[in-house]
Formats: sequence, C-alpha cells, structure tokens
Amino acid sequence: ERLYGFNRWGSPYFSVDKEGYVCAHPAADDISVRIDDVIKEAATKGIKAPMVIRFQDLLRHRVERLNKAFADSIRDEDYPGHYRGVFPIKVNQLREVVEEIQDAGENHCYGLEAGSKPELMIAMAMHQHSESLLICNGYKDEDYIRLALNYRKIGKDIIIVAEQLSELEMIISMSKELDVEPLIGLRSKLGTRGEGKWAMSTGDNAKFGLTSMEILEAARMLEKANLTESLCLLHFHIGSQVPNIITLKNAVVEATRYYCQLQKMGFPMGFLDVGGGLGIDYDGSRSNYESSTNYTLEEYARDVVYNVKQICGLMDVPCPNLVTESGRAIVAPHSILITEVTGRISKRDSLLTVRKDEIKHQVVADLHEILNGRNRYGNLEIYHDAQQKKEEADSLFSHGYLDLLGRAQAESLFWQICNRLEKNISKTKGYQPEELIGLSELLSDQYVCNFSVFQSLLDHWALDQLFPITPITRLNERPTVNAILVDITCDSDGKVSKFIDLEDEKQYLPLHPLKKGDSYFLGIFLVGAYQDIMGDNHNLFGRVNEVHVFLDEDEDDGFYIEDTIQGFRMKDVLEGVQYSAGGLCQNLKKQIDKATKADLVKPRDGVRFMELYEEQLQKKTYLDIEQKKK
Ligand code: PLP
Repeated sequence: ERLYGFNRWGSPYFSVDKEGYVCAHPAADDISVRIDDVIKEAATKGIKAPMVIRFQDLLRHRVERLNKAFADSIRDEDYPGHYRGVFPIKVNQLREVVEEIQDAGENHCYGLEAGSKPELMIAMAMHQHSESLLICNGYKDEDYIRLALNYRKIGKDIIIVAEQLSELEMIISMSKELDVEPLIGLRSKLGTRGEGKWAMSTGDNAKFGLTSMEILEAARMLEKANLTESLCLLHFHIGSQVPNIITLKNAVVEATRYYCQLQKMGFPMGFLDVGGGLGIDYDGSRSNYESSTNYTLEEYARDVVYNVKQICGLMDVPCPNLVTESGRAIVAPHSILITEVTGRISKRDSLLTVRKDEIKHQVVADLHEILNGRNRYGNLEIYHDAQQKKEEADSLFSHGYLDLLGRAQAESLFWQICNRLEKNISKTKGYQPEELIGLSELLSDQYVCNFSVFQSLLDHWALDQLFPITPITRLNERPTVNAILVDITCDSDGKVSKFIDLEDEKQYLPLHPLKKGDSYFLGIFLVGAYQDIMGDNHNLFGRVNEVHVFLDEDEDDGFYIEDTIQGFRMKDVLEGVQYSAGGLCQNLKKQIDKATKADLVKPRDGVRFMELYEEQLQKKTYLDIEQKKK
C-alpha cells in the first residue's frame, strides 16, 4: 500500500484491504467495494477489460464536498454572498455523469457551464434547477447566441460570457431583435500568468478574453445600447490543473479588482466567476509539481472567499456571489481504467549461456572476461567497459564481421553483466552514480497491457500527465519485477514509462510476476476528467467498455452495476472511417470466390473463412485475452 502511495493520492477514496485487494470508498467512509469484485461482476455481464469503472456515489461526494467547502468558508468568513458553482460539461460530457452531478447539486443550486454549441445543447436540456446558473463560454456564432437568448426568454438564469468584442456586438443586436434582456458576462484576460501544463489560458498571448482596453470598450458598448443592467458577471479562467495556490490567489485578487472597477462604473454586476483551475494531487506529493497541487480543495475555497472579501472591502464594493467552474476536481477521481496484462517482454528471458570454448570472436571473449574474470574494478568502470564492448559488437555485426550467433552471445553477456551490476548496487548502501541507478530502468521488463494510451490516457501521451497506476490484487505480496507498460497499438509511443514518484523516484513500476493462467489487472486511477472524450481511434481500437457502479448495503459485496456501456465493435470503428460492413464482406467474398475457382482453397473452407470474417465484425476491437489463456 505504501509502495504505491495510496494514502497520498488515494485518500479518502481508495485503499488496500488486509488480503491485498484494492478497495474503493465512493462515499469517502468505511463502506468499501473491492475493485476485483466489480471486475468479476462485470464479467458476468459480458464486460471485460479494458474497461472504465465509474463510481457514481463518488461523483456525488465530490459535488457535495466542493459545495460544503464554499458554504463553510462563506460562513467562517461571514461572507455576504452565495456560492453558485457550475460544472463545465467539457470535462466529462457523458449523460450519466452530467445527470448524477445535476442530481447531487440539486440542493446546492449547482449549475452547468457550456464551452461550445453542442455542449450548450446538452446544458439547456439538462439544466434542471431554477436557481442555478447556466454559463456560456467559448467562441460563439449567431446560432449559439440565439439559442442562449431564447433560453433566457423562458426565464432561465443563462449568462452569456463575451470572449471577444464581436460576440458582444452580436449579443446586443440579437437581444434587440428577440426583445429579451440578456444576462451578460465579460471574460477578462488577466495579467496573472498561469502555471502548470495548461498555463496559456491567461496572459497577453491567451486566445480567450478581453484586455483592459477591450473591457472599457465593452462597457461603453453596453451603455450605448442601454444594456447597463445586463452586465452581471466578470469571468476569468487561468488554466486547468493549477499546481500552485499562489497563482490562484493572485488571479482572484486581480479579477476582483476588475469586478470592483466595473461595479463602480455603474454596472450592477453580482457574480464573480473564477473559472476552473482547481487541481488534483495525482502524484500525492502535495507540491507544486505539474501533476500535483500544493493545496486542498478546502484551502482553495477559503482563499477565493477570503481574497474576494478583502479586496471588495478595500474598494468599498458589495461582495459578489461566487461562481467556480471546477470540472477536473469534480470528476477526475470517480473513474478507474482497468487493463489486463497480456504478456511480458523481458531482456532476461532469452539470454544464451556462453561457454568459453564456443567463443569465436575477440569482442565476445572480452565480454566473457568482464563477466567471469577476476573483478578488479569498480561497478561504474565495469559498466563502461561492457558498454564499449557491446557497441563494438553492434558495429562489427553491421559491417559483416560478426555473425548472428556472435552478436547474440555478445548481447547475452552484456545483459548478464548489467544484471549482476544491478544486484551489486541494490545491496550497496549510500550514494550511487546516476548511470548505475539508471540500470534498473534499462533492465525493466515491459508488461504488455490490453488498452490504447491514445484512447484512454491521452494526456499522458501528449503532456506527460502522470496518473497513479497499481495492481488491483496481490498487494500483500512484494512486487519483484520492475516494469514499464506498453499498450497494444503499433506505435512505440504507446507506452507508460513515467510514473508518480514512488519512494525512490525511479521510472518504472514495481509489479508482480505473472502467473500462468491467472489474470493480472492494473488500475489506472483518477482518469475521470478529459481522458474519455479526448481519446482517439488510433489503430481503430476506439471506446472501451464501461460499468457504472452504485453502492448498495443490501448486496453482499456492497454494490451493484446499474449500467454498462459496450465498447466499440469492429463494425463500429470501421463505419467511422467510411467502410460499410456489407461492402467489406462483398469485397472479401469476391477474393475468396476467385481463390476457390483457382483451387487454392476448398469451397467449404472458403465459406468458413467468410463466416469468421462476418463474425469478427461484431466483436470488440481490443484483444480477447481469454482466447490466449486457453
Ligand atoms: N472553465 C473554462 C472556461 C475552461 O476552459 C475549463 C477548462 O480548461 C474549465 C472551466 C475547467 O477547468 P478545470 O479543468 O480546472 O476544472
């Protein structure tokens, strides 16, 4: 448990029980569900890994925790305003996710945010509570604004946030045309620079928001159009996953100054929207590293409330109601990606035993001597000598002076030397040179996992975002294999070779040896934000299976699976790239008929082949590991 850092990144939602099984605590209490039980239950419904497990109760808990944090801070600070959070649909658009969040937010007037026209279509239909807000961000065209204004006309608190002056022009003219009083917000391009992987959302080169000059111009345009009363919100977004609380504090202070200035200019205002940015401590280090946060959700809420109150007090302006657009912090923890290890690639498996009398080449003899001769030198020097000889052997092979057997002997000896050095180092206490520490990484096995990094872990591939990864079972057994993970795409980028910093900060994951015939599942945690929707169809693997889990005390294992979503079948992904199943079958059939006529294949075997092809079109895209086990 300690090795994988559960109590650092997982608390209070994930832990390990005495028998070594990973458990989820979706309601952040003692009620726990073994992930392995969920995998087994899913199998009875025909759902296999790779799959996403969603804990719906965990989503509810996040919504409640965020709202409680703000309610507590508002009470403690005696803040004379309300909290009206919204969930940004872009972070996870799945209907079941949005429904659960809306349901959990009912008593908190928790609303929705849309960042595009399709998201607005969802938000308008799903927005249920009359007192909650619907915030419209993103680039807008006439249709976007027309939809929003019509929604306003039916009495809804929909606020259209202008990202550009041209949008404001459209909002003004269309409100007149539709005879509706709009609710308008302005997005400001703050000077405070973001921090972390998504830092470009503010600053001079940000693609969104209005500069101070444009905000003055916007104020003038609204006055001229007699829409002073419509300006009710100032918005900013500093970027997702802000690791450092200082950045957030500074941004809140700057934005509150903008808010107060506008209020003093005679606009009614009423809402300050601090956007997203509230991060997740993916690596559990509670630091300002990119995959971490040096603050908690509660500290964030306190800082927003305190700083807004202080600046408003200084400027003698009534405190606004507070809006946040935190999506990552709401949804990231609720889902786990489960992948099954399907095989192992090891540098140690196929090593040759090289006898001295079999050696035909000097370079092989030299490596044999390094491995078996009297050890007079230090570990680092031995390593350098071995490296030089290995490179020499590679080069001799390329130039035709070393045959295949000679090269295989040289490589085998080199890896045996590395193995021995690694063992020596692990027994030695104290400082070790970096090159020697790197040996464990060099010797790591590759565990082949049935999933696609491009579909399920895009931020890891694109931005080196780290996610906690652990085995789901056997956590009471010491892991003895150092491994990196490779996926089943035909792309060498399809791998995970950077992990959250464990005790010794090495770039491999300690895992258990695979047992023949037994499944070995890995869980990739905190993947509920952005990953589902951003994944792509590289190699045509497509969407994975899903199960939606609810807690139920009446069930023996404490849960039930309410819903399953089937991953893509081959037919689905092929149709996505314009192939019809019928057309493909016809094309193949023509080729089989030709082969049958040419007596290359018996008609019966040709028919069987055709049946196999048709059957496969209905099957899932990922590997069927059960077949391999048989
Ligand atoms: N609001 C806006 C305008 C955004 O662009 C985003 C995403 O970057 C969010 C909210 C969600 O932010 P977070 O991922 O920090 O929850």
